[in-house]
Amino acid sequence: MVGTMTTSAVRVIHNYVNGEYTETHGGRSFAKMNPATGEVLADVDEADQQLVDHAVMSARRALDNGWANTPVRERAALLRRAADRIEERFEEFVAAEIADTGKPITQARELDVARALINFRTFADVAAAAGQESFLTDLAGGRQALNYAIRKPLGVVAVIVPWNLPLLLLTWKVAPALACGNAVVVKPSEETPSTAALLAEVLEEVGLPAGVYNVVHGFGADSAGEFLTTHPGIDGVTFTGSSATGSHVMKSVAQRVRPVSFELGGKNAAIVFDDVDIDEALNGLTKSVFANTGQVCLCTERVYVQRNVFDEIAAGLVERAETLRLGNPTDESTTTGPLISQAHRAKVVGYFALAEQSGARTLTGGGIPDLGPDLAGGSWVEPTLWTGLSNADRVVREEIFGPVAALIPFDTEEEAIGLANDTQYGLAAAVWTNDLRRGHRVAQRMRVGISWVNTWFTRELRSPFGGVGLSGIGREGGDSSLHFYTQPTNVCVQL
Ligand code: NDP
Repeated sequence: MVGTMTTSAVRVIHNYVNGEYTETHGGRSFAKMNPATGEVLADVDEADQQLVDHAVMSARRALDNGWANTPVRERAALLRRAADRIEERFEEFVAAEIADTGKPITQARELDVARALINFRTFADVAAAAGQESFLTDLAGGRQALNYAIRKPLGVVAVIVPWNLPLLLLTWKVAPALACGNAVVVKPSEETPSTAALLAEVLEEVGLPAGVYNVVHGFGADSAGEFLTTHPGIDGVTFTGSSATGSHVMKSVAQRVRPVSFELGGKNAAIVFDDVDIDEALNGLTKSVFANTGQVCLCTERVYVQRNVFDEIAAGLVERAETLRLGNPTDESTTTGPLISQAHRAKVVGYFALAEQSGARTLTGGGIPDLGPDLAGGSWVEPTLWTGLSNADRVVREEIFGPVAALIPFDTEEEAIGLANDTQYGLAAAVWTNDLRRGHRVAQRMRVGISWVNTWFTRELRSPFGGVGLSGIGREGGDSSLHFYTQPTNVCVQL
């Protein structure tokens, strides 16, 4: 049986457990829609408790059968082969990601699938280069003890990922987990099952032992997600998703005292100072507000602009928003896709109404575009900008996760810092200024996991990544990933 099969126009996507494509015992499945058109794209098997048990047990067996003790250079070599194989099957991954999410082809190529390769290659390098801590400890009587720490895999890791950057976020976790000798059970979002299924094919092709990578499909609560996070056989959970779900997952995992790594929501600020190169700032803001239709945890939804350039920035951003091209995702000139689902669109459109009730002035957007009959069933919204709101308004406090931003003026640096930090979230911030000292000063005072100056979404995968406050717990990336996906045992030898 294959991972994805086509029956008429609708594919069937199975769970992948212990190296086999497995149907659910109860035969339950769900329909996956194409968000650009509203058509049914795939019929996905929904994993039940029994199948999740099977996946966790298979992962444990794979560890015990030797995967956990495979030399790191072999694991790193396998990761590099996986990257090469994704590169060979690049366009298949691109097509799968577009079908699931509706994102524009240029983005799927240049960001989503490209980053999957980089994730595998980076963590192969990071794991292969990792050293061990050791200390010589002075003891009474002139004797010494040698302390060193060996790092063992965490074990069976539950990997739960959202729908916005499905392959990118999946491989960001799976690559370091495998590099460290763990076995994983992956639960992709029910909205984006395809690339996790394709990755199973690739990992099998490059010789990953059965049971090391398992995929269970389904929903969160009362379904595969919850069966997995509450499973007694799980040694740790790495989760990317909303803060509300993260809090729920944390409660489940807390009962068994397992480590968690949480990358959660954001309500990210940009601060634009009047000394900035206006064009450069506008180009950056256009990306940071509208990339992936605003569905990136790092996207900017609050733009604080120094008062004397406020009108110029607002007008420039409106002009750029209105030149974005919404349309068929496979058209190379398309810049902006739909939202992920009708349910998510209903949420975003709810904020359009709330903004108006809160007294906002909608500078552009605020509605549902007419893109013709072929795309009429898709979950499209217009890129939207507001003024007239303040930090007290819900629209400025809550994560919307759409192509939207509120523009708010400020007068002084201190005021801007206060406004940007006035949030329960703390994922990312961007500071736009030509004053280098100010850039460093303000960036360092942002209460966030990552603070950019004159750029946005520039990532160094060896740097720690994560959030503060409602935006997460822990850090991944580089050595931080190695720390999360391993457990140290300190060995102390008296010399
Ligand atoms: P959700 O929190 O709704 O879902 C995330 C994942 O958790 C999905 O696979 C979901 O399954 C699963 N899930 C839901 N409920 C449970 C449960 N009770 N137990 C176990 N698993 C569960 O997030 P979205 O998918 O809507 O993604 C958008 C969110 O992700 C935004 O808040 C965004 O900011 C955040 N995010 C954070 C990033 C970061 O690095 N900080 C990066 C990208 C996104 P299902 O979808 O099938 O219900």
